[in-house]
Amino acid sequence: MDDSPLSMHIANTVAALRHLLRSQAGGLPRVVRPPRPPEPVRVAPPAAVRTPPAPSKAAAPPTPVPRDTLSLPEVDPWPDLDLAGVGGLVAACTRCDLASTRTHTVFGEGALNPPVMFIGEGPGAEEDKAGRPFVGPAGQLLDSMIRAMGLTREACYIANVVKCRPPNNAVPRPDQAGPCMPYLFAQIRRVQPRFIVALGATAAKALFGKPEASVGRLRGRLHQLGDIPLVVTYHPAALLRDPGFKRPTWEDLKLVMARLKTGDE
Ligand code: SF4
Repeated sequence: MDDSPLSMHIANTVAALRHLLRSQAGGLPRVVRPPRPPEPVRVAPPAAVRTPPAPSKAAAPPTPVPRDTLSLPEVDPWPDLDLAGVGGLVAACTRCDLASTRTHTVFGEGALNPPVMFIGEGPGAEEDKAGRPFVGPAGQLLDSMIRAMGLTREACYIANVVKCRPPNNAVPRPDQAGPCMPYLFAQIRRVQPRFIVALGATAAKALFGKPEASVGRLRGRLHQLGDIPLVVTYHPAALLRDPGFKRPTWEDLKLVMARLKTGDE
């Protein structure tokens, strides 16, 4: 072989081939591939097994709204008088300035132990003339409300906070309502109603003894006067002025009706 570039190239190639053959014959370390991991075995979940339902929270019983509990005055100022006897005191009463402008006192009327005793504000012009409570337009509406409750006016008892008419149908002042309240409490003691419905803000303020009491805050739930359940709602005169009060008033009366029906008082 000569020393030409071609000869040199051929010689190099042959040498490389020989080297390769020797290497394979000498056992070059073989590249060992890692075994393929086994195919994961897929196991179908048992059809019948279900995830147990999360323990359901038992519905918590509604928290009862606490009743406002009011007390009748501890002392009955006229323990020896019956209802008619207290009415006699009222007929002669001059405890406040309304005595000088009244035509008649309006004590109240109705049955003893009635299902409901309604308590309004005071006599208007027609009541002052007749000497009877709730005989004007507001009284006619009250009669309708009583009938809608499935009751009769005669079976209920109707009274007011003040027994004499405030001129111009003004709201009774504290110095008028205050001296009159012993008569109302005496009536409640003797009438012994199953329920009291306070009609309007004047009755609510007088019974709760709070000048800031309002129908809006007190209506819609039960209160308690001594052992007598009490509901506050709008005065029929307010319903005549604004029929929008009819629905909430009916809701309040339904509260009374439901309790009367179940005897749950
Ligand atoms: S309103 Fe009442 S306290 Fe005043 S005079 Fe008449 S009955 Fe008496």
